[in-house]
Amino acid sequence: MTDLVVIGGGPAGVAAARRAASLGARVTLVERAGLGGTCVHAGCIPSAALHHTVEVLEDVRGAGQVGVEVEAPAVNWQRMQAWSGSVVQNATRLVRSSLEAAGVEVLAASASFTSPSSVEADGRMFEGVPVVLATGAVSAPSTGGALSNEDAMALDCAPAQLLVLGCGRFSLEWADFFQHLGSKVTVMAPDDRILPQEDEDIAGFLQLLLEQRGIRLLMGADASEPVSGATVLRADERVPNIRGLNLGAAGIAVREGAVVVDDGSRTSVAGVYAAGDVTGPPWLSNRARAQGIVAATNALGGSTRFRPERIPRSVNTHPPLAAVGLTEAQARARGSQVSTGFGELTTSLRAMTLGQEQGALKLVVDIDFGEILGAHMVGPGATEVIAQVAAAMELEADYRDLGRIQHLHPSLAELVTDAVASV
Ligand SMILES: Cc1cc2nc3c(=O)[nH]c(=O)nc-3n(C[C@H](O)[C@H](O)[C@H](O)COP(=O)(O)OP(=O)(O)OC[C@H]3O[C@@H](n4cnc5c(N)ncnc54)[C@H](O)[C@@H]3O)c2cc1C
Repeated sequence: MTDLVVIGGGPAGVAAARRAASLGARVTLVERAGLGGTCVHAGCIPSAALHHTVEVLEDVRGAGQVGVEVEAPAVNWQRMQAWSGSVVQNATRLVRSSLEAAGVEVLAASASFTSPSSVEADGRMFEGVPVVLATGAVSAPSTGGALSNEDAMALDCAPAQLLVLGCGRFSLEWADFFQHLGSKVTVMAPDDRILPQEDEDIAGFLQLLLEQRGIRLLMGADASEPVSGATVLRADERVPNIRGLNLGAAGIAVREGAVVVDDGSRTSVAGVYAAGDVTGPPWLSNRARAQGIVAATNALGGSTRFRPERIPRSVNTHPPLAAVGLTEAQARARGSQVSTGFGELTTSLRAMTLGQEQGALKLVVDIDFGEILGAHMVGPGATEVIAQVAAAMELEADYRDLGRIQHLHPSLAELVTDAVASV
């Protein structure tokens, strides 16, 4: 007997299955490829492992400045790929054991709907059982022979010349990665600046840093112009993965290719829930996980909702950019009485000891109500610094409360105190 069927074993599906099991439900999770989904096999985890290689490379390149003498470093491409592969293997094992520990049944199969209330997988029929749909997203079909995320990850050397079409997060991460490994990189996009969805000041700061590092940014450019001689990469375009699910038979509403859900992860069909990338962007594992938990809770009779305004996000360049909540422009467009505060790395003693003093944290607050509306940072440790603002937002703290929190010294977390003080 099964109380809940989960289709897809990525972050959304695994979170849904584990939450349902913790609520006492008997759960069957159907996964047709690798447990852990895109995140573990072709996304966050291999990409973070590869970016770590670049971090180490940069540390070694900068070793002389802090008094460590080393020979000129070189990257062994095969060993870098083996490192990333071993991390993927371990992460897959971890996902499998977490599901086993929770008592979730894992079915290695492809699932599809046969009616609004029945799902078939490997000849097994699940009738009248609530379903969480968590089938993720895939790269959009390639145009003009451009490489996708998966292709970029599988390359066996850095292309001599790389043309990146797009200025979103995936594009910039690859541009940054290959530039560190020796490619001559050009980024081309029709937008007037990189990361158009992110805060203008902070994205502008990252743009400057990337340009100073030698990445050529052609903004406002017609990306359809033919460019010869370069390997072309198009990484930002992804589409929700609904192929083969037979959503038509179930009557599940789809808009612009994505399964439509409300803030309780309910689809248009009673008893069918959806979570993660299959519901459209933003393409983030943390968002997929949070939505999966909401879906499972509600599928089992609970009542909870997903808060999209508090999704932390990052761009894993060197240095990284991380953010949570509204940009200054979004906050002003909402009609809030906006004030901003900055914490600068040039005045951070921790940044000085790291020899990495480029970057800033920007806090966006509603000055009338004390509400923290958003935080945006570019610089070392950005993901960790943003995490504490995200926690304060979740706890609905006043921004002045955030300023009262003590931080270890010297630490990058002290930037938050600086930013609050300058609001
Ligand atoms: C290069 C890259 C880097 C990324 N880096 C980050 C990052 O640093 N941080 C971050 O938060 N996010 C990152 N992401 C995004 C992140 O990987 C996704 O947002 C996340 O994996 C979505 O989780 P999901 O559970 O919705 O879907 P997925 O992880 O895609 O999982 C869906 C699963 O469903 C399975 N499935 C599909 N159809 C069926 C079917 N019919 N039957 C059975 N199983 C099926 C698939 O095999 C897959 O395993 C990155 C993505 C890419 C491509």
